Amino acid sequence: MTVGVLGGGQLGRMLALAGIPMGLRFRFLDPDPHAPSAQVAEQIVAPYDDPAALDQLTAGARVVTYEFENVPAAVAQRLEAHASVHPPALALATLQDRLLEKRLFVECGVAVPEFVHASTRDDLLAAAEQLGLLDGRAPGLVVKSRRMGYDGKGQAVLRRGAGLPPVQQQIDAAWPDLAPRAAAGGLIVERFVPFTRELSLIGVRARDGGTRFYPLVQNHHEGGVLRTTIAPAPGLAPGLQQHAEDRARAIMQKLDYVGVLAIEFFESRDESGAPTLLGNEMAPRVHNSGHWTIEGAPTSQFENHLRAILGWPLGDTGATDCCSERSAPCGPVSAMINILGRFPRREDILAIPGAHFHHYGKAERPGRKIGHVTVVADTPAAVAAAVARVQAALPG
Ligand code: AMP
Repeated sequence: MTVGVLGGGQLGRMLALAGIPMGLRFRFLDPDPHAPSAQVAEQIVAPYDDPAALDQLTAGARVVTYEFENVPAAVAQRLEAHASVHPPALALATLQDRLLEKRLFVECGVAVPEFVHASTRDDLLAAAEQLGLLDGRAPGLVVKSRRMGYDGKGQAVLRRGAGLPPVQQQIDAAWPDLAPRAAAGGLIVERFVPFTRELSLIGVRARDGGTRFYPLVQNHHEGGVLRTTIAPAPGLAPGLQQHAEDRARAIMQKLDYVGVLAIEFFESRDESGAPTLLGNEMAPRVHNSGHWTIEGAPTSQFENHLRAILGWPLGDTGATDCCSERSAPCGPVSAMINILGRFPRREDILAIPGAHFHHYGKAERPGRKIGHVTVVADTPAAVAAAVARVQAALPG
């Protein structure tokens, strides 16, 4: 039974590593001959829109999925005509566009930072006025590309304050970088949110519409890139897990979604000081903030994605019920630390109790995600100690 996958990065590699024990075979399509999945499964090296390569990918495949959300949505749409494609091309098309994504959040009851669409320099000035940057109602604005932006790339921040250049001047300075993005697909300008932390929810929806969710996790980013995830998120306010799950379920229903969906939230405070969630972005695929599930949950996000798209029963995701009711975790605690740029010595990581080393088969390059470490322990204190040891073992 063969699964065809668009994209052959580390997410695809981990999908294959989860599916091979269940008797699955994998075939990847990726333009890069050195893609991480090529080391563990068959790979077709071609552009994503190469018709012959797409025929080869789907020939005899039980199902087609993707591990990279910037695969052209039109390709997924075309494949749907003669193959079983999950998640649906509609999800890919919607989540590739930050404006459509934000509208979907709103439609499904997820609060979002106030936003407007922009495509010219004048639009940015109008947005600064409308969103309250000029009169001080907003502490800042984040300008993002509508399309093809991820990990904070293609973003600009506008601020107002003592010692800062006037807003118009900041816009003029940022414009050379933003102009090509504005021309390519437009921009979205949103209020800077003074969030307390970033959380994410990984959910999976089966073909029969059944859903399962992992506990909300806490993510720490630097320069827009995920550095660490702690699962479950410590000190979660009662009801927040349920709130997130209900909204995620509504989103998945709306998209007729099958597979794993990741939703990133900002945790902020409402007027009464109570924690609330604001939707930031979604990924129609397995997600970096779910890598801890390989060792930290009864069924990993990768296995659950495969179970979902193949129409198989979903697997247990862990102590979701008790985690949603209590502020302290009641099962094992996990942390995931990304390895960026250079590898640590394997033996230094493996000497740490509860630590697991993941190598993506990629070459070292500054800033590149080349692996991760997961630590699992019985208490938050034991995980924190292990994380400190992992961080000390990471090169510079
Ligand atoms: P994104 O590509 O949308 O995930 O943004 C990358 C990172 O920039 C996020 O993980 C946040 O740390 C930060 N960021 C994005 N949007 C906002 C916002 N509206 N307010 C504050 N920080 C933001």
